Formats: sequence, C-alpha cells, structure tokens
Amino acid sequence: MLNLDQIIGLIAPDICLGCGAEGDVMCGQCMQTAGEPPVSCCAGCKALSVNSKTCDSCKSWLNIYAVVVANNYEGVYEQLIHSLKFDMKRKAVVPISKMMTTIAPNLPSDTIVCALPTASSRIRQRGFDHAKLLAKAYITQLPKEFPWNEWQLAHFLGRKSNVRQLGSSRAQRISQMEKEYYVKNPVNVKGKTILLLDDVMTTGASLSAAARVLKRSGAKRIYATVFAHKI
Ligand SMILES: [Zn+2]
Ligand SMILES: [Zn+2]
Repeated sequence: MLNLDQIIGLIAPDICLGCGAEGDVMCGQCMQTAGEPPVSCCAGCKALSVNSKTCDSCKSWLNIYAVVVANNYEGVYEQLIHSLKFDMKRKAVVPISKMMTTIAPNLPSDTIVCALPTASSRIRQRGFDHAKLLAKAYITQLPKEFPWNEWQLAHFLGRKSNVRQLGSSRAQRISQMEKEYYVKNPVNVKGKTILLLDDVMTTGASLSAAARVLKRSGAKRIYATVFAHKI
C-alpha cells in the first residue's frame, strides 16, 4: 500500500534541486558531487580550529564543545531546507540527514542524539515535526560501524510555548530560549555525551540555550551537528 508521499510522487515526481532530473528531491549523483564541507572552524567566531572545536572565548556563551557544520546556508542547501520547512516536502530530510551523517563526529558509543524541539505552532502549520523527522533519518543513516552503530536517539528536550527569538542581542536571545526549553527527564541526561542536531544555525542562540539546559541537568559534554550555517 502506498503512503501519501508515494502517491503524490507518482502524480508529480520530485525534481532534483541540483540538476533537475526527475525522481528525487536530490539525486544520487548530485549527493555525491555536493560541495566539500566548510573548513573546520569555531562556529561562534569562525576562527580556524581542529575538529570544529569551539574556541576558548566562544565556549563561554556557546556552551558546546564542537559544532560540526555540513554546509554553508546557500544555493542548493538553502533550497533543500526550504523544501522541507516551507514546501513541506518530508522527503527532503533524506538528503539533508545523509549529508549530516557523512560528517558524523567520532564520539563515544554511548552518545545520545537529540533534536532541538520545534515550536508546536510550527508543527501544526507543517503537519509534521521536521526536527524529529530529521533526527530519525539521521540515526538510521549513520555508518553501521562502531561507535556510530551504538548511538541512541532520545528526545530529552521539551519546549514550553511558541516564543520566537525576539531579543536583539545574542545574550537576550539565549536567555529567552533558555526559558523556553526544559529537560523532560533529567535522570536520563546525567553523565551523558549528547549530540544536538539542528538544520540551520544562525546566531547559535537556540543551540547554546539547549546546551545550557542540558548541562544544568548534568550532561557530561555537548556536541552539535548542523546541516547549514547561515552567516
Ligand atoms: Zn541531481
Ligand atoms: Zn570562537
């Protein structure tokens, strides 16, 4: 039995955003030739760093040990995000998450993968939770070898309401988001290495706030993987 996405695919097949070929949101060929990930740098200030480690000065506000970025937010990568979040094309999570898994950091086998929670108003608008969909696709597409094959997916974080990031300064946005997020079961977070997933990083306020909340619940170390960095 075909699901709704498959039926729509038969009537109006997807067009590859890279080359225009009919079939997928992004064809296999274009996935292979997608650009090299940006150079390894601190996501906070763009200073070059080894393994995308956050520099000492940005660590004080970003609270994340390393942020691995798959692409800059431009061209076909921007279009993929647009397809998922504004054209409601669920299938766009496949190439997005696939590209994120190709730069999976080499973290311990007991790492927990966690998505940033989406505002419920957005979930209602789209009819699906794009962040949870992305996290699920990410975990299933990770390399089937140690340590990645042992990583678990858990949705530790909850979101209280629908407040948008209205503050003008970074500090204001971080504290606003910090009040938004909460840890559902702090006992499960204690002592854990957590890899946060986010589709687009702009100022880093959401990631930073999520990391603060998780650390307050005793998380050992927080990493992040981002599909596209908007500069
Ligand atoms: Zn293509
Ligand atoms: Zn920095």
